[in-house]
Amino acid sequence: MGKPVDHVVTRPGRRLGDPEVEIPVAEDLTTVPGIPLRETDLSFYARTYPQETQNIEKAADRQWVWTVYSPEMSEYRKAHNDISEPLIDAAAVSGNLEPIGTPTGEDMTAAIRRKARELGFGEAGFTKYDRRYTYTSKRHWTKYEHAICLALEQDYVQTQSLPSMDAERAHFGTYEIEGALLLDLADHIRELGYHAQVHSPNDNSAPYIPMFVAAGLGQLGANGQLLSPHFGSRARLAIITTDAPVTYDQPVDYGIHQFCQVCQVCVNRCPGRALVKEKVWWRGVEKNKLIYERCRPVMARYDGCAVCMKTCPIQRFGMPAVMEHYVATGQVLGKGTHLLEGYTFMEKGYFGPGELPMFDRNFFEIPHGRNEEWLFQQFKEKLVKEGIPSQEALVGFARDVKKIIDKGNSTLGDE
Ligand code: SF4
Ligand code: SF4
Repeated sequence: MGKPVDHVVTRPGRRLGDPEVEIPVAEDLTTVPGIPLRETDLSFYARTYPQETQNIEKAADRQWVWTVYSPEMSEYRKAHNDISEPLIDAAAVSGNLEPIGTPTGEDMTAAIRRKARELGFGEAGFTKYDRRYTYTSKRHWTKYEHAICLALEQDYVQTQSLPSMDAERAHFGTYEIEGALLLDLADHIRELGYHAQVHSPNDNSAPYIPMFVAAGLGQLGANGQLLSPHFGSRARLAIITTDAPVTYDQPVDYGIHQFCQVCQVCVNRCPGRALVKEKVWWRGVEKNKLIYERCRPVMARYDGCAVCMKTCPIQRFGMPAVMEHYVATGQVLGKGTHLLEGYTFMEKGYFGPGELPMFDRNFFEIPHGRNEEWLFQQFKEKLVKEGIPSQEALVGFARDVKKIIDKGNSTLGDE
C-alpha cells in the first residue's frame, strides 16, 4: 500500500563527493522538525534540576562494571583508556589555545564543514551551544557559543556482529580515531583565526544529541540514540565549540519521531526490557525514555550489548532505503526477519524474532548513584539489619567515605 509523501529531505552524500540523497517522508510520519519541545519546561528543568554527567551521577555502577567484565574486555578497555588519555587531556585545554591565523570576519561555515568532511566526519552541522544542557561540572569550562556537531561512522560489518568484542573494538576504536580528528579540526579553525574548544566524547560537557537534532543531523530514536540519515545510530558523536562566525543549520523532520512508534523493533528486541514503547515528556522534550537500570547490567555483562543499535533498520539499511520502502509499502524494512532482528547472546545462544533471553531478578541488582551514595545506602541497610555497628566498623565506614572524597569526582567516561 503506497503512502502519500508530505515532503522530501535532501542531504549531502555519505562521503565527501558522493551525490546528494533524497529521503521521502510520508504524510503519516510527519510531525515537527527536530523533536517536540517545550522551551519553558526545558529552561525550568535546566535551572532548577541541572544535569550532571553519568560519570559522576552513576559513578557506583560505572565502577562496578569492571568487576563483571570478561578478562578480554577488561584488558581491551584498559588499553583503550591508555590510548584515549592524551587525547582527552589535549581536548581539556584546547579552548585556551590562541588562534594562529588572522580572522577575516567572513562566514566560516562552508570552510569548516568542508574540512570536517575531508577529515572523514560523516556528518557536520552547526547550531548554538545550548547551555541549558551543560553538565554542572562543566559549566565553567565551556567557552564559546557556536557548536559544530560532528559524527564519525562506526564500521558497518563489525557493528553487525553485536554484541561481540569485535563490535566493541569498532565502538571504542572509532572514538580513538575521532579524538585525534577533533584536535586536527580545532587546529584548522585556529589557523582560520578563531578559537576552538574540543568537547571530547570521553569527557562530555553535555548530552550532545539535542544539539545534533537542532543542527538537523538526525532525530532521536526510540533506542535513545541519534538516527542520522546514512548510518543511523552507528555514529559516534562529539562537538567543537568556536567563536568563528558561522550560520546555524535548522532542525529537520525526517519522520523518525513518528516512525519509531510504527517500527518498535529495538523496543521489542531489547534483552533488558529497558526500552519503552510510549513516549513521555521528559525535561521539556517528548521522547521514548530508556530505563538506565535495566540496560546497564546487560551492557556490562554482554560485551556492550547494543542490540538496540544492531536491530535498528536505519542503522542497517540507511534512512533513504527505509523511508522509500515505507512510502512504497507502508511496512518497516527488515522487520520480523532474522537478518535484522536476530542476535547471539554469548552463552545464552541465538535469539530470532520474537525470542528474548531471560535473566533472574538478582541480575538487575547493581550499585546505584554516586560512590558515596551507594556506600551510605549499604551502611543504612546494615544498620537496619544488624543494629549499631562496632566502633571499628564505624571508623572503617568513615575511612571509606574519606577515600571517596579525597579521590574526587571524575568526569571521564566511556560514552
Ligand atoms: S544496550 Fe541492550 S539492554 Fe541496553 S537498551 Fe540497548 S538493547 Fe537494551
Ligand atoms: S529500531 Fe525502529 S523504533 Fe528503534 S530506533 Fe530504530 S527506527 Fe526507531
